Amino acid sequence: VSPVLTAAAAREVAGAVVDPELPMLTLADLGILREVAVDRAGAIQVSLTPTYLGCPALEAMRAAVDAALRAAGAERVSVRTVLRPAWTTDDITPAGRAKLQAAGVAPPGPAGAGGPVPVRLAAPSGVPCPRCGAAQTEQVSRFGPTACTALRRCPACGEPFEAVKPR
Ligand SMILES: [Zn+2]
Repeated sequence: VSPVLTAAAAREVAGAVVDPELPMLTLADLGILREVAVDRAGAIQVSLTPTYLGCPALEAMRAAVDAALRAAGAERVSVRTVLRPAWTTDDITPAGRAKLQAAGVAPPGPAGAGGPVPVRLAAPSGVPCPRCGAAQTEQVSRFGPTACTALRRCPACGEPFEAVKPR
Protein backbone atom coordinates (compact mmCIF):
# COMPACT_ATOMS: atom_id res chain seq x y z
CA VAL A 1 0.00 0.00 0.00
CA SER A 2 1.48 3.32 -0.95
CA PRO A 3 0.56 6.32 1.16
CA VAL A 4 -1.76 8.85 -0.42
CA LEU A 5 0.35 11.70 0.88
CA THR A 6 4.09 11.83 1.33
CA ALA A 7 5.43 13.31 4.54
CA ALA A 8 6.54 16.40 2.63
CA ALA A 9 3.10 16.86 1.05
CA ALA A 10 1.39 16.29 4.41
CA ARG A 11 3.69 18.86 6.03
CA GLU A 12 2.77 21.36 3.34
CA VAL A 13 -0.96 20.78 3.88
CA ALA A 14 -0.71 20.95 7.68
CA GLY A 15 1.63 23.94 7.59
CA ALA A 16 -0.79 25.92 5.41
CA VAL A 17 -3.56 25.79 8.03
CA VAL A 18 -4.11 29.29 9.37
CA ASP A 19 -4.13 30.28 12.98
CA PRO A 20 -7.66 30.96 14.28
CA GLU A 21 -6.65 34.10 16.16
CA LEU A 22 -3.98 35.53 13.89
CA PRO A 23 -5.41 34.47 10.52
CA MET A 24 -2.60 36.15 8.59
CA LEU A 25 -0.28 33.45 9.95
CA THR A 26 -0.10 29.78 9.06
CA LEU A 27 1.03 27.09 11.47
CA ALA A 28 4.30 26.96 9.53
CA ASP A 29 4.72 30.74 9.98
CA LEU A 30 4.14 30.36 13.71
CA GLY A 31 6.72 27.60 13.97
CA ILE A 32 4.40 25.32 15.93
CA LEU A 33 4.36 22.45 13.44
CA ARG A 34 7.01 20.16 14.87
CA GLU A 35 6.87 16.82 13.06
CA VAL A 36 4.91 15.27 10.25
CA ALA A 37 5.39 11.57 9.63
CA VAL A 38 3.65 9.07 7.39
CA ASP A 39 3.90 5.38 8.22
CA ARG A 40 3.93 2.56 5.69
CA ALA A 41 0.18 2.15 5.93
CA GLY A 42 -0.33 5.81 5.07
CA ALA A 43 -1.34 6.95 8.55
CA ILE A 44 -0.21 10.50 9.23
CA GLN A 45 1.12 11.66 12.57
CA VAL A 46 1.41 15.36 13.19
CA SER A 47 3.07 16.95 16.23
CA LEU A 48 2.10 20.45 17.24
CA THR A 49 3.51 22.41 20.12
CA PRO A 50 1.16 24.66 22.07
CA THR A 51 1.76 28.36 22.31
CA TYR A 52 0.65 30.13 25.43
CA LEU A 53 -2.86 29.67 26.69
CA GLY A 54 -5.48 30.74 24.23
CA CYS A 55 -3.04 31.84 21.57
CA PRO A 56 -3.70 30.27 19.31
CA ALA A 57 -6.49 27.91 20.21
CA LEU A 58 -4.79 24.54 20.19
CA GLU A 59 -7.95 22.46 19.92
CA ALA A 60 -9.20 24.49 16.98
CA MET A 61 -5.85 24.06 15.27
CA ARG A 62 -5.77 20.33 15.87
CA ALA A 63 -9.21 20.00 14.32
CA ALA A 64 -8.22 22.22 11.39
CA VAL A 65 -5.07 20.19 10.69
CA ASP A 66 -7.06 16.97 10.84
CA ALA A 67 -9.69 18.35 8.47
CA ALA A 68 -7.12 19.73 6.01
CA LEU A 69 -5.26 16.42 5.80
CA ARG A 70 -8.47 14.45 5.35
CA ALA A 71 -9.54 16.87 2.62
CA ALA A 72 -6.18 16.20 0.94
CA GLY A 73 -6.90 12.48 0.89
CA ALA A 74 -5.51 11.17 4.16
CA GLU A 75 -7.65 8.54 5.84
CA ARG A 76 -5.89 8.14 9.15
CA VAL A 77 -4.61 11.23 10.90
CA SER A 78 -3.48 11.72 14.46
CA VAL A 79 -2.47 15.07 15.82
CA ARG A 80 -0.50 15.03 19.03
CA THR A 81 0.86 17.73 21.24
CA VAL A 82 4.51 17.98 22.18
CA LEU A 83 5.50 20.21 25.06
CA ARG A 84 9.29 20.19 24.68
CA PRO A 85 11.11 22.11 23.52
CA ALA A 86 8.65 24.82 24.52
CA TRP A 87 7.50 27.25 21.87
CA THR A 88 8.53 30.89 22.12
CA THR A 89 7.68 33.82 19.91
CA ASP A 90 11.23 33.46 18.53
CA ASP A 91 9.90 30.44 16.62
CA ILE A 92 7.78 32.72 14.42
CA THR A 93 9.52 32.65 11.05
CA PRO A 94 10.83 35.75 9.25
CA ALA A 95 8.03 35.27 6.70
CA GLY A 96 5.52 35.20 9.56
CA ARG A 97 6.94 38.40 11.03
CA ALA A 98 6.66 40.10 7.65
CA LYS A 99 3.02 39.02 7.37
CA LEU A 100 2.22 40.41 10.83
CA GLN A 101 3.85 43.70 9.93
CA ALA A 102 1.94 43.85 6.62
CA ALA A 103 -1.32 43.27 8.54
CA GLY A 104 -0.56 46.17 10.89
CA VAL A 105 0.34 43.95 13.84
CA ALA A 106 3.71 44.55 15.49
CA PRO A 107 5.77 41.36 15.53
CA PRO A 108 7.13 40.28 18.94
CA GLY A 109 10.56 41.32 20.10
CA PRO A 110 13.15 38.77 21.25
CA ALA A 111 11.74 36.31 23.78
CA GLY A 112 14.87 36.41 25.91
CA ALA A 113 17.61 33.84 25.74
CA GLY A 114 16.95 30.75 27.82
CA GLY A 115 15.32 30.41 31.19
CA PRO A 116 11.80 31.21 32.22
CA VAL A 117 10.38 34.42 30.85
CA PRO A 118 9.57 36.90 33.62
CA VAL A 119 6.05 38.21 33.76
CA ARG A 120 6.07 41.76 32.52
CA LEU A 121 3.66 44.22 34.05
CA ALA A 122 4.36 46.76 31.34
CA ALA A 123 5.42 45.85 27.82
CA PRO A 124 8.75 47.17 26.64
CA SER A 125 8.41 50.63 25.11
CA GLY A 126 10.53 49.88 22.06
CA VAL A 127 7.76 48.36 19.94
CA PRO A 128 7.89 50.22 16.63
CA CYS A 129 4.66 51.32 14.96
CA PRO A 130 3.81 48.81 12.20
CA ARG A 131 2.10 51.56 10.19
CA CYS A 132 4.53 54.50 10.18
CA GLY A 133 7.63 52.97 11.75
CA ALA A 134 7.86 55.41 14.67
CA ALA A 135 10.15 53.88 17.29
CA GLN A 136 8.27 55.02 20.40
CA THR A 137 4.75 53.79 20.98
CA GLU A 138 2.65 53.50 24.08
CA GLN A 139 0.75 50.59 25.51
CA VAL A 140 -2.98 51.18 25.89
CA SER A 141 -3.80 47.81 27.37
CA ARG A 142 -1.97 44.57 28.11
CA PHE A 143 -5.03 42.85 26.75
CA GLY A 144 -5.62 43.10 23.03
CA PRO A 145 -8.39 41.54 20.96
CA THR A 146 -6.67 38.16 21.35
CA ALA A 147 -4.86 36.56 24.28
CA CYS A 148 -1.54 36.87 22.53
CA THR A 149 -1.68 40.54 21.61
CA ALA A 150 -1.52 43.80 23.50
CA LEU A 151 -3.15 47.01 22.38
CA ARG A 152 -0.79 49.91 21.67
CA ARG A 153 -1.06 53.36 20.19
CA CYS A 154 1.38 55.36 18.10
CA PRO A 155 1.68 59.04 19.11
CA ALA A 156 3.25 59.90 15.73
CA CYS A 157 0.42 58.75 13.47
CA GLY A 158 -2.26 58.46 16.13
CA GLU A 159 -3.16 54.94 15.12
CA PRO A 160 -3.92 52.15 17.57
CA PHE A 161 -2.38 48.79 16.71
CA GLU A 162 -1.98 45.28 18.05
CA ALA A 163 1.38 43.89 19.07
CA VAL A 164 2.15 40.23 19.59
CA LYS A 165 3.49 39.84 23.12
CA PRO A 166 6.96 38.34 23.27
CA ARG A 167 7.15 35.05 25.08
ZN1 LIG B 1 2.56 55.26 13.67
